Amino acid sequence: MFVSTRRGFLQAAAVGLAAPSAFTQTPQITTTELAPNLFLLSGAGANVLARTGTGTGDNTVVLVDGGLAQNAAALTQAVMALPNSGPVRTLFNTHWHPEQTGSNQSLGMAGASIIAHENTRLWLQQNITWPYNGQKFKKFPKVAQPNKTFYDKGTLDNGIRYGYISDAAHTDGDLYVYFPQQNILAVGDAAYGQGWPVVDWWTGGWIGGVVGGLQRIRTVANRETKIVPAQGPVLSFADITAQVEIFGTIYDRLVQMLNKGRGPSEAVDAGPAKEYETKMGNSDAFVHRAFESLWAYLSPDA
Ligand SMILES: [Zn+2]
Repeated sequence: MFVSTRRGFLQAAAVGLAAPSAFTQTPQITTTELAPNLFLLSGAGANVLARTGTGTGDNTVVLVDGGLAQNAAALTQAVMALPNSGPVRTLFNTHWHPEQTGSNQSLGMAGASIIAHENTRLWLQQNITWPYNGQKFKKFPKVAQPNKTFYDKGTLDNGIRYGYISDAAHTDGDLYVYFPQQNILAVGDAAYGQGWPVVDWWTGGWIGGVVGGLQRIRTVANRETKIVPAQGPVLSFADITAQVEIFGTIYDRLVQMLNKGRGPSEAVDAGPAKEYETKMGNSDAFVHRAFESLWAYLSPDA
């Protein structure tokens, strides 16, 4: 495995130089080779996949997600340091969140094509305020918006396939990117490597979609596929199957409570995810949000 860190490189390079400014925060980008020409870059705010050239001509780079904007420069440097690296020609946004779209501005200005589901472009064209915590997101300038959107699926000329995860697992614009040569599938926040899902029902996600999205991922993948979520470690097909079971169980319990007229706090008190907490951590925030997400999809007056 090829593993290097940007911080290690900078520390080595900084020997003999003046101490860096105390205000400079350099994110640590860790690079892991998952398969020939395919690298996982972690530390930019979300997992980023980079497909580099083969060393025989085309050395342009395809990126899946771009990390947070404050880490975009560090990410670019880490991408440029990869073997057979070159200019980023294509950037996928697996959804609109800042952890995925922070390189849109710089790569859009550099002329990259930015591929996203049409719903992702629509979210990035407007200011958003989350009702859960008041967090605000400013709309993107035109150059940073996805410039190649789709509704269903597509294939790049190098064989990379992508498609819509239409179940609305995390948002209503989730997409997957499949690299058939390496048998690696990037799924953004539609699968979970670390902790509980964040169900962004304000922009279309819901707990039923979490289950549906995982089932869809199983149909795109095969038993040997490595699945790369937005956060946490790479997952196996068996991990996805286990997640279908977990979230299917929780979904059933929440729907039963909704049908009995219960609210989100009562759902939390009932502990519908308690048996998974040793492995996945406290589930209260997840259950509360997952229950709220049912309203938009299942309430009689919705
Ligand atoms: Zn997200």
